[in-house]
Amino acid sequence: MRIVSHTIKPALKGRLARLDTLARNLWLSWNFDAVSLFIRIDNDLWLAAGQNPVKMLGMLSQEKIDELAADQSFLSDLDEVYARFQRYLKSKPWYRGPSDSIIAYFSMEYGLDVSLPTYSGGLGVLSGDHMKTVSDLGLPLVGVGLLYRQGYFKQYLNADGYQQETYPENDWYNMPVERCVDQSGAPILITVDMAGRSISAGIWRVDIGRAQLYLLDTNIPENQPEDRTITATLYGGDKEMRIKQEILLGIGGIRALKALGIKVAATHMNEGHSAFLALERIRSLMEEFHLDFHSAMQAFIPTNIFTTHTPVPAGNERFGIDLMDKYFRAFVSGLGLDWNEFLSLGRENPFDNQESFCMTVFALHLSAKSNGVSKLHGEVSRKMWQGLWPELELKEIPIGHVTNGVYPRTWISHDMLSLLDRFLGPKFYFEPDNPEVWASVDRISDEELWRTHERRRERLVATCRQKLAASYVRLGMPDGEVLRSSDVLSPYALTLSFARRFATYKRGTLLLEDPDRLIKLLSNKDMPLQLVIAGKAHPHDQSGKDLIRELVHFSRREDVFGRIVFIEDYDMAMGRYMTSGSDVWLNTPRRPLEASGTSGMKAGMNGVLNCSVLDGWWAEAYTPDIGWAIGSGEEYQDQDLQDKIEAQDLYDLLEHEILPLFYSRGRDNTPRAWVAKMRASMKAIGSQFATHRMLKEYYSQYYEAALNESRALEADGYKASVSLAAYIDKVRRAWQRVRIVEFKDDGAPVVSRGTTITVSVLVDLAGLSPDDVAVECYKGRLSSKGEILDGARLPMTLVGPEGHYFRYQCAMHGEITGQIGHSVRVLPSHPALDGRFIPGLVRWAQ
Ligand SMILES: *Cc1c(COP(=O)(O)O)cnc(C)c1O
Repeated sequence: MRIVSHTIKPALKGRLARLDTLARNLWLSWNFDAVSLFIRIDNDLWLAAGQNPVKMLGMLSQEKIDELAADQSFLSDLDEVYARFQRYLKSKPWYRGPSDSIIAYFSMEYGLDVSLPTYSGGLGVLSGDHMKTVSDLGLPLVGVGLLYRQGYFKQYLNADGYQQETYPENDWYNMPVERCVDQSGAPILITVDMAGRSISAGIWRVDIGRAQLYLLDTNIPENQPEDRTITATLYGGDKEMRIKQEILLGIGGIRALKALGIKVAATHMNEGHSAFLALERIRSLMEEFHLDFHSAMQAFIPTNIFTTHTPVPAGNERFGIDLMDKYFRAFVSGLGLDWNEFLSLGRENPFDNQESFCMTVFALHLSAKSNGVSKLHGEVSRKMWQGLWPELELKEIPIGHVTNGVYPRTWISHDMLSLLDRFLGPKFYFEPDNPEVWASVDRISDEELWRTHERRRERLVATCRQKLAASYVRLGMPDGEVLRSSDVLSPYALTLSFARRFATYKRGTLLLEDPDRLIKLLSNKDMPLQLVIAGKAHPHDQSGKDLIRELVHFSRREDVFGRIVFIEDYDMAMGRYMTSGSDVWLNTPRRPLEASGTSGMKAGMNGVLNCSVLDGWWAEAYTPDIGWAIGSGEEYQDQDLQDKIEAQDLYDLLEHEILPLFYSRGRDNTPRAWVAKMRASMKAIGSQFATHRMLKEYYSQYYEAALNESRALEADGYKASVSLAAYIDKVRRAWQRVRIVEFKDDGAPVVSRGTTITVSVLVDLAGLSPDDVAVECYKGRLSSKGEILDGARLPMTLVGPEGHYFRYQCAMHGEITGQIGHSVRVLPSHPALDGRFIPGLVRWAQ
């Protein structure tokens, strides 16, 4: 049967057509006055459409459309919002540089809005917030991802509290995405080879303010049925499906940008999923500038940035050699690259032929700069990947950190936002990372801040009641039970919330460690505590699902019923209710396994106080005036013991500090000391953890340098990359024989401060010239174990040749007292290396 299809769009004419324009740009999602237009048309329809403006417009009856077209007050409000949107698009951006060279940002998922379910959790929300901020700041960056036919699963619980999953189909024609077409109106397609088959993909565009995101889609008639499923589900398939998705994202993504005429100068891999893009960018550099593989690789590396998110070794994605062989043998041989050399780029131990291919290792090897997502996670990552640079000291491992953030206008409730807009002024929109702007929170009265917060708590409680009752109805519970479920929680009680993925390290059940103590807190009549819990377990994670069931069973106990609820299907919408309507936000990861965490930032900006283990972002944000710390940053060997200690610490905090502070009220029932903490939390967390701070750091630490490198390399026809590749080849051949044959100094064992010590070495350069290397002294305080701490690098100067060798020396001044140590090393030196270390090419004195 041949089916012919047409896309039918709602017929909105004249000024009403502007509704359609607004509906198709994600700008709407963070501008409540735009959302309000849709709610005002028909609130029930808005909810029935899943808060999706495009879908809602398609559902409007012609009668309603005619009515709106004649409603002058509606039209004038629409004009006003539309004008604001236009002003936004034309506003002067923070970024004022050239926009001819583009950074392409790659992520497996994007959480932009509930109306676009192409995300599973934290990583997606981060990418979505990244893109919104790119729009605000006007950065020359486009996003690349995949368009999943089913997105991530929706969660519901069976009668036993066990998680079930459904996968609703996304209807792209009724969502804020636009198919990319050429001048003739035909869809733009790209192709990618997968194990000898050519797979086609279409491209869809998402407009996010003035930024663009491009999503690839294999669900098109040009493909075989099995290939159409490559973009069927997010994190749903087996390993082979996963490698196909990652080939599509990385290689297909670069091809898509080329097909769209976008010139990519630099790439940012947000997590290792997209690391195959390196191969396509290298291939395209080889083709366009007639470079060999190694020269093109040296041209690529300085223009690539990699962000790692995984502090658990097992969490770093690996592919077996059989799969790599099946999907990459032909591609790699086409590059003229030796197969084993290629595999070694993805191996921790390049000499282990059995080791599988690790995407994180591959990405680290192919990025001049990499980063973790909090200060602590940067440290953890340097330790975890130290083996890739065995000759370097820990602090020299080239992995830095940029702490994650959240996009304030998405995550601060509209009640609180309108209060903040009123007091913080227009600067707040574009500069939420400015502490001076946030200082005006002090001008809001205690009463108004508290009333606004209480309104959010009421809304959260109402939402929980609705959701719980709906799930009771679905489960076929008796009417009496349904009625009881629609009266759970109190709008006035201290509400402690916990919502996140149910992975074991997040310890979703830590609160149940001592059930009696928890029950005592929950059933206290004078100072009641109530709990709202939500979160999904990965469909294959049985232990995560067991945790959820345990919580649900506990919540159904008679003695705590109505004081603890589990809400199904945690998503961005529920996340917003919870992070704005709770009083305390709880996070209990097993340190240091939470790379950053972002939900606590959302809470903090809303005046919800954090009570968390000192891990991820909270390890750097916590101060006693803004929230509470569980423990003091210890790490334990015995996990059971850790759970016991930290649970007791949490109960103590609740009983002795949190509950008494919350219930200490003045005559007007405002908890002034609590409100003072809310203020402090909003100011500190609002300015420090806005994505605007994060993007500015990515720009100044990474993007700017990558763009400059790209321009400079291209301007000189990649001569520097060719010369660097040839240089590395030469140095590698000689390096085995490079050594320090003599290492001495003229200092006595004990010297007084200020004495100058001359360090002198004799180096065998094995035929290399002194211009090819740098010789340096590395010195610092000695630890009790005899290691150099806080090492500083001191260049040594060439004195001259001595026979076959070269003498270098430097002068050290004893500035600090105590036990000082030094060593010396030889490093490669080439202008295009720009301070980069090359694994294997560092020679220390033996
Ligand atoms: C913010 C958010 C997350 C990430 O929160 P973490 O604190 O990193 O666990 C996950 N899922 C949703 C729906 C979110 O809104």
